[in-house]
Order: sequence, then structure tokens, then C-alpha cells
Amino acid sequence: MKLFDVYPLFPIEPVKASGSWLWDVNNKKYLDLYGGHAVISIGHNHPHFVARLTEQLHKISFYSNSVKNTLQEELADKLGQLSGYPTYQLFLCNSGAEANENAIKLASFVTGRKKVIAFQKAFHGRTSGAVAVTDNKKIVAPFNAVHEVIFLPLNDVAALHQHIDETVAAVLIEGIQGVGGIYIPEASFLQQLSAICKKNGTLLIADEVQSGYGRTGKFFAHQHADSQPDLITVAKGMGNGFPIGGVLIHPSIQPWSGMLGTTFGGNYLACAAALAVLEVIEKENLMHHAQKIGNEILERLKASQYFEDVRGKGLMIGFDLPQPLLHLRNTLLTEHSIFTGEAKANTIRLLPSLALTKEEATYFFSALEKETSKY
Ligand code: PMP
Repeated sequence: MKLFDVYPLFPIEPVKASGSWLWDVNNKKYLDLYGGHAVISIGHNHPHFVARLTEQLHKISFYSNSVKNTLQEELADKLGQLSGYPTYQLFLCNSGAEANENAIKLASFVTGRKKVIAFQKAFHGRTSGAVAVTDNKKIVAPFNAVHEVIFLPLNDVAALHQHIDETVAAVLIEGIQGVGGIYIPEASFLQQLSAICKKNGTLLIADEVQSGYGRTGKFFAHQHADSQPDLITVAKGMGNGFPIGGVLIHPSIQPWSGMLGTTFGGNYLACAAALAVLEVIEKENLMHHAQKIGNEILERLKASQYFEDVRGKGLMIGFDLPQPLLHLRNTLLTEHSIFTGEAKANTIRLLPSLALTKEEATYFFSALEKETSKY
């Protein structure tokens, strides 16, 4: 059977990984500044992550959600404590799209409404429900499966006032827009958004799938703005590569039996992986580290005369390339063995492990200097 060919692939086959590094089949070493779309939060194959997963594999890996699973409770406690949301409730699933899908479903249940407001350039996933609230031009949204969705410009309070009313179930916003190009909601916009949602009985959903888990220097990107969403969706960095997602749910939202469901969500291995991630983030003080090293990288990029619109927070960074440097992402990979991400043809996205070292950042800047000096 052939694989269904829907992803562009680099002709590189990684077979081994450690920290911020990958090795291919020919034992060539690569610096990973992309972390597989921001998934690698604590570093590839962190020893504590490997040990906790291995230990769990020798105990039990799976049983259905019809039995008590204390690992889920441990995970909820630890996540509540580290994220600053100890009173919220946790629903576990397997991916970011699923988390968003469940959050929208919850908002519909709670409000009895179907309309959703989302933002231009947003990306929320590839299930039909998640695609419906996605406005990334690369993604084809063939139909609005469940909801009527209105896309508004980010940071436009007047547009929000114009479109929100008591028929809107939810406003869905990324903590920082990732796939769309690293665009940051202004703090004052988020605060006004919270207040306007409250006034209309509309639930605010923060999609922290890419921007959460310490990546921006706080546990969630929206916490830079002091706003408090009703629902927060997580995935990617949550499992450092093990598939897991979740929805953090405001304590006022009451669950009822059968309201949501999942087969694989919250399985023992996923919980062990997610607990290992939180333990390492806490023990190695990775949120603080991400903020510090991220600021240093941002400052150095801003100081360069070659890059435009350098933006981001912590280790969620984007910058635009001038026309003569459009090849840079490819050249970094082929000439310097450095993986980076892109958002549009001229935007480079950096989403490295939160444990990225100063030396690794220096390695990246020497490669940048070599390439920009040719220009
Ligand atoms: N939300 C955001 C902000 C994302 O960046 C992504 C994935 N790029 C998703 C949701 C969907 O996550 P998944 O691919 O795990 O379904």
C-alpha cells in the first residue's frame, strides 16, 4: 500500500534524537529549531520522559475510560498548579483539533447557541469542525460543518462590537497565532474581548495548542494579558511528541454524563508522558529559561539589518525575509543542517525546545551571519 501523499517532505530521515538535535540515517547531525510544529517542549528523548514512559509501559498502557485512572487525576492536579488554573476541570483527548472541537461543542452545549467568532489567519486544526473555524489561506475549508463562523480581523475591537451579540456561542482565539505567521493579540484587545464576551454570555476559548505549555515564557500566552478564558485548549508540547490534547474548563461549567467522550484520551502512557513534561518544565525552570533565551534571540534578530518585522514572545518567534533571502530556510537546512519552520513563503518560524541552550542559539546565529553576509 502507498502512503497518501499530502505532505511536502524533506529528503531527510531522522533516526535518532536528543535534546535539540536529530541524527539522520547517515548519522548526520541537525539542530532542531522547529520541534515538529512546536511539539518538542522539553527536548527530544529527555531522560526523565524516557524513564517515566518506559516504567509505565511495564505497568499498564491502556484500558478504557470506564475505570478509575489516578494518573489522569495526578495530571489534572499538576497542570492546574503549573498553569495557574487549579480550579478548572480537565477533559483529555488526543490532539489539538480534537481539543478545539470539544471546546466548541462545550460552548454550544452551555449557551445553546451555534454561532462562533474566529480570527483571520487563524489555524485550529483539520477536522471538519476545526477547519470550519480556520482562516489560514493554505487550508481549504470546504464547508462550515456545525456552526456559522464569522472571521474578524485580529485586534479590531470595533469589528468585534459590530458582530458579537447574544447569539454567539464562543469566540475562539489563538494565544499567539502560529501557523498564520506569529501574530500576537494585543493585551488590551484580549482584555476587552474577555469583557465583551462576558457581557454577551459568550464563552471565550483560548487555543493554546501551539502557544501554550511555557513556550512564550508564561504557561499560556494569554496570561501575558491577564485575560481569563472560559475554555483553554492544549496539545502539541503537552506530550513532547506523545499524542495528547486537552480542554481546561471553567469551574462554573457543569459536566453531565455523556456530554463528551473519547476512547484513547487520557490513556496511561499519554498521562505518563504529560506528567513527565510538567515535571521537567518545573524542575528545570523552563518557562523562565524560554523567556530569557527567547528575548535574547529576539533582540539579536531585531538588531539585524536583514530581517523584517521580528516578532514573538519567548521561544515562539517569527521574522520576515527580504526577497533576496527567500531561500534562507532551505539553505539553513541544506548548508547548515538547521531545521526551522515557515508560515508563509517569506516568514521563518522558530519553535525550538524550551531547553534550547545559548550555544545552540549561537550556532544558529553563526549560520545566519554566514548566509546574510553573502547578500
Ligand atoms: N490549533 C493550533 C493553534 C495549531 O497550531 C494546531 C496544529 N498546527 C492545531 C490547533 C491542530 O492540532 P493537531 O494537529 O494536533 O490536531
